[in-house]
Amino acid sequence: MGTTIFAEMSALAAETGAVNLGQGFPDTDGPREIAQLAADAILAGRGNQYPPGPGIPELRHAIAWHHKRWYGLDYNSGSEVLVTAGATEAVAAALLALVEPGDEVIALEPYYDSYAACIAMAGGVRVPVTLRPPDFRPDLDALRAAVTPRTRLILLNTPHNPTGAVLTRAELTAVAELARSRDLLVVTDEVYEHLVYDGEHVPIASLPGMHERTVSIGSAGKTFSFTGWKIGWVTGSVDLVTAVRTAKQFLTFVNGGPFQYAVAEALRLPDAYFAGLRDDLRRKRDLMCAGLSAAGFEVYPPAATYFVTTDIRPFGETDGLAFCRELPHRAGVVAVPSVVFYDDKQAGRSQVRFAFCKRMAVLEEALARLTRLRTG
Ligand code: PMP
Ligand code: GLN
Repeated sequence: MGTTIFAEMSALAAETGAVNLGQGFPDTDGPREIAQLAADAILAGRGNQYPPGPGIPELRHAIAWHHKRWYGLDYNSGSEVLVTAGATEAVAAALLALVEPGDEVIALEPYYDSYAACIAMAGGVRVPVTLRPPDFRPDLDALRAAVTPRTRLILLNTPHNPTGAVLTRAELTAVAELARSRDLLVVTDEVYEHLVYDGEHVPIASLPGMHERTVSIGSAGKTFSFTGWKIGWVTGSVDLVTAVRTAKQFLTFVNGGPFQYAVAEALRLPDAYFAGLRDDLRRKRDLMCAGLSAAGFEVYPPAATYFVTTDIRPFGETDGLAFCRELPHRAGVVAVPSVVFYDDKQAGRSQVRFAFCKRMAVLEEALARLTRLRTG
């Protein structure tokens, strides 16, 4: 494993002064009143010492409440909810807990970079099923054909980074049927659950028979624009959450005590907060899709997330990695080559991902700069 693409590209942005549309983090912090709660917690001495291993009860209650409020899901906050150091630790702990050496893990590619690393750390074998443009729909026959007697679990990510695809209820129903009939577990990364512009987010855990075989993962980072706080969570049946907690104890044990108090309140923010975040990002998505298209990229508009995938072949170029390494020098913008998220390098070679969780003026400046690509 080398340096993550996010670290490489953010360093390149810092070095060149380019507009950073690579690593996905907002350039505006989340709600001030929530930040104030974290500051208050620190000064009041709440959470400054190790919080309980599974997370503070207030946050576990809030996570259970949130899942009921949005999806009608019932989790026991005492035994079926676990707070983690971001979704990253949740993915790591879930895979370390559930995958034995030699087990196969099916994942939809392109996939978030930590998946490959964590499958490898667990000694598992990753089996990619490729999503292809323009729609990046999962090929359900390919998914079924990928299952072998060694398959342990299916690792899902919906809404999907980097493509912005949202798995439909019908697609998830097919995945759930497959999991039930072949006795597989599902680990589902749903950190972009509230950033859906077209369609709806359906947690696979809400489908019949899936509660007991699904580990669901969420994060405050994306929903509340506090990516540095690293507060994430896992929900699932008692057995699955116990297994994940066992692994988690030896990764970080606990993290972010004062932030847990603040996120407990954030999860109960009124619906208007969630709608406001989504509407703001939808406008940014529309601006970016139109602007990138005008700049000459082939654009695959995302239904969700704050990323847009493009293709550089209209510029007569095919090597996304080389393109991204040169882009700060050519146009003063940083993006991420999607090829790093693929095992099938050919499939992702010419794709480039732009993040749009930035202020409008920053996006407009980036788009103005990108028009230079065509004019030279
Ligand atoms: N999963 C996906 C799909 C992501 O895009 C990210 C990064 N933002 C993460 C997990 C990691 O989330 P966190 O920052 O909460 O660790
Ligand atoms: N999830 C973010 C992205 O996809 C980056 C997180 C990270 O830097 N590890 O851009």
